[in-house]
Amino acid sequence: MKVLVLNSGSSSLKYQLLTMPEAAVLADGLVDRIGIEGGNFSHKANGEKTKFKKELADHKEALNTVLELLTTGETAVVSNIEEIDAIGHRVVHGGEKFTSSVIVTPEVIKGIEECTELAPLHNPANMQGILAMQEIMPTKPQVVVFDTAFHQTMKPENFLYAVPYSWYEKYGVRRYGFHGTSHKFVSERAAELLENKELRIINCHVGNGASVAAINAGQVVETSMGFTPLEGLVMGTRAGDMDPAIVSFVQKKENLSADDMDTILNKKSGVLGLSEISSDMRDIEEGMEKWDEKATNAMNVYINRIVKYIGSYTALMGGVDVITLTAGALENSGVMRKLILDKLGFLGIELNESVNDFRGEERVISTENSPVKVMVIPTNEEFVIANDTFNLVK
Ligand code: ADP
Repeated sequence: MKVLVLNSGSSSLKYQLLTMPEAAVLADGLVDRIGIEGGNFSHKANGEKTKFKKELADHKEALNTVLELLTTGETAVVSNIEEIDAIGHRVVHGGEKFTSSVIVTPEVIKGIEECTELAPLHNPANMQGILAMQEIMPTKPQVVVFDTAFHQTMKPENFLYAVPYSWYEKYGVRRYGFHGTSHKFVSERAAELLENKELRIINCHVGNGASVAAINAGQVVETSMGFTPLEGLVMGTRAGDMDPAIVSFVQKKENLSADDMDTILNKKSGVLGLSEISSDMRDIEEGMEKWDEKATNAMNVYINRIVKYIGSYTALMGGVDVITLTAGALENSGVMRKLILDKLGFLGIELNESVNDFRGEERVISTENSPVKVMVIPTNEEFVIANDTFNLVK
């Protein structure tokens, strides 16, 4: 079966065409600046990368061009679009409604629309991809895979905030968690590699966005992102945990609107805000090497937050068997892996330094003696989307 995986952002579109269940990637690519002047395509197929510019009014136009690339000329990997059997979409927010991936029906569309208030930037963008594909390929099944679904096993004691209960009842204010497809993939892969489904796993997904999840025997106990993806770890441009009183304090001082503050906490804070250099951890590592004080502070705050979450999630699960590291920063940076593991000696964890200098591979990096196994497992969210789609429509 050939599955087209789509991740539609407000002005971007990531795609991958895979054969399932083999999970062989036939083509993948990225389109950005949809609806903005200067649409950009980057398409990879048959070992070749193709880049070009094309003005794109909307997602439908972008998708039609992607389908053209997949079916014609040197970039083609299928002879016509009928060979694509199903489409899997990433949807950011499924609220409390969606606890797993589902086939798209009119009712599901309505359900996603009802969750829009919880993810006003993301869900409408995801929806554009779904609606466009329904128009272009109306007879093909479509599946939606939610970032929040895997976390729906959290219990009230871990998903409720200590604010008036009526906010939960009226507005759905609670912890939802995000990056669910990644946490699911990595924790399941660790269980598979270690041939044990009963493990207590702490998965650290640390890329530009970052979150930690405590997973006991396949069930999420708690995760660090909350009502929105702003809570928890320090991220590239997001603040993560902070005293909520800072918000109204600075709003008054600088005469900022709620929307201004929202933008600052999401786009101008985190590593970028602290370092005043960059949101990219590669630049922060470089800054540290040059003894830049702000870069060093940014890295230390960043690492300490990860360590604090690992400590608190260990307590919450009554122990931990495996710590998994994934996404851009922890798949690639031996320096950051060492900074974290050096602070986990209290768990008996020892880093095997001789195997830590690598990028993007599956590898155990703790020593044989370490009572807690630490593994790097590159994430693969597209695989989860393709696999759920395959399993639902086969
Ligand atoms: P996204 O959250 O956008 O999916 P990724 O998981 O691809 O992001 O992570 C991208 C981030 O990973 C970069 O912004 C950078 O901070 C970090 N990163 C990538 N490679 C390295 C590296 N070699 N060293 C340190 N950090 C890295």
